[in-house]
Amino acid sequence: MYDIVVIGAGVVGGMIARELTRYQLSVCIIEKQRDVAMGASKANSGIVHAGFDAKEGSLKALLNVRGSEMMADVAKELGVHYKNNGSLVVGFTDEDIQAINGLYERGVKNGVKNLRVLSKEEVKALEPNISDNVIGALHAPTGGIVCPYMLTVASVGNAMDNGAVLKTDFEVTSIEYTNGVYKVSSPTETVEAAYVINAAGVYSDKIAAMAGYGSFTVTPRKGEYMLLDRECGNLVSHTIFKVPTKMGKGILVSPTVDGNLLLGPTSVNIEDKDNVETTKEGIDAIVAGSTVCVDGIPLRSVITSFTGLRAVGDTGDFIIEAAGDHFVNVGGIESPGLSSAPAIAVYVTDLLAKMGMELKKNENFCPTRKIFRAAESKYHKVICRCETISEGEILTAIHTNPGAKDIDGIKRRTRSGMGRCQGGFCMPYVADILARELGTSLLDVTKFGGKSNLLVGKVKEVQA
Ligand SMILES: Cc1cc2nc3c(=O)[nH]c(=O)nc-3n(C[C@H](O)[C@H](O)[C@H](O)COP(=O)(O)OP(=O)(O)OC[C@H]3O[C@@H](n4cnc5c(N)ncnc54)[C@H](O)[C@@H]3O)c2cc1C
Repeated sequence: MYDIVVIGAGVVGGMIARELTRYQLSVCIIEKQRDVAMGASKANSGIVHAGFDAKEGSLKALLNVRGSEMMADVAKELGVHYKNNGSLVVGFTDEDIQAINGLYERGVKNGVKNLRVLSKEEVKALEPNISDNVIGALHAPTGGIVCPYMLTVASVGNAMDNGAVLKTDFEVTSIEYTNGVYKVSSPTETVEAAYVINAAGVYSDKIAAMAGYGSFTVTPRKGEYMLLDRECGNLVSHTIFKVPTKMGKGILVSPTVDGNLLLGPTSVNIEDKDNVETTKEGIDAIVAGSTVCVDGIPLRSVITSFTGLRAVGDTGDFIIEAAGDHFVNVGGIESPGLSSAPAIAVYVTDLLAKMGMELKKNENFCPTRKIFRAAESKYHKVICRCETISEGEILTAIHTNPGAKDIDGIKRRTRSGMGRCQGGFCMPYVADILARELGTSLLDVTKFGGKSNLLVGKVKEVQA
């Protein structure tokens, strides 16, 4: 039996699990997918928001500003790329400038440091490629960018290094509570724990209801993106937002920490919690929304498109609550959930202490990751030519907690397959290395778990 089970290995579950391993607690992280970071935490803008957007007094405002202040140190400890590039909310009309002044005041109340409203000339001096139609902007120098999936992989990995157990392919389908013990079950396995944290993202309402604590609903809100080649990453240096609406922060144009240019997201409420299709309407909306802000976006350099689902709760704020006996809901964690994740983890731990959990310091806690090192010669053999990724880096991804088990897991951890050819060259080599290292047949290697096998059989056998 564990002291605590965390359901969901996204950035929120990962950060919470890592925080809990600072104490003498046995922690189990449960994830229904084959890998971590398979929900919203892998498909978002990767922006560490400064914290001027959330309503003053809300949990979102409190945890965003705290999380943003913690992010540089957390990313450094975990060896994850983070850049303090600053952000601009650009205005094109008098109404936009009024809204920008409102955001400035809200930001000051939220405790965001060094905010300034800039004139057109100041904006153009900072970002020459912003449209000439700009008339002013809010500058937030504390804003940043981070690699969201690596932050998730690294937080779960560091929790594991400090003793947490990760169970993947474990879809929670029932939760029972008797005599102070939770039984958290998939169709094939049961895990027992004294406390449960529900960090199941867009499914957090379903998990809460399963446990009998379903006081809220979560609507999936689709956000589609286009990612441009690395040669375009210098078009802007700040994250460029338009004035937010009630549906979110609008289409942004931003460099990523890896040097690509990101356009998106759209914002459409849907019903299906698993619908991550990209659409023509979405692409059209991204093109229209981004080109109005920034000139000279080389749309021919798009290398991929993808979709993420925001978990929009029905309270308008993050839902972090002691829902029942020893059960904590961490639901409705939409944007700025990534920015807030380190602070959410501390907040949840404080909440557990208030609920009676004993927190004795783990003197052996190590905040940095244990990284597997392959033989030196393996780092000289290039497997992905677009991103110059070596066999050594792929071996590191397979053998460092939480080890990659499929092609996309390698891609997220190393960038192998993320370049211009999108894996056309390196995928067979990566599949071969995975099969060898995991001791499986090439036929069992998948792109992202489930039935996404790359190969269906040997040519002569299939033809026969
Ligand atoms: C389009 C978009 C843009 C965004 N941009 C930003 C941004 O720029 N900055 C920012 O701060 N935030 C941003 N966010 C918000 C941020 O991505 C999320 O707040 C954050 O990733 C939520 O993390 P999570 O761990 O709660 O959820 P998730 O990452 O979705 O993780 C939940 C996990 O629970 C698992 N799970 C679900 N059901 C079960 C079950 N029954 N059994 C076991 N496991 C289960 C899922 O498989 C998943 O891995 C954005 C979100 C989206 C979608």
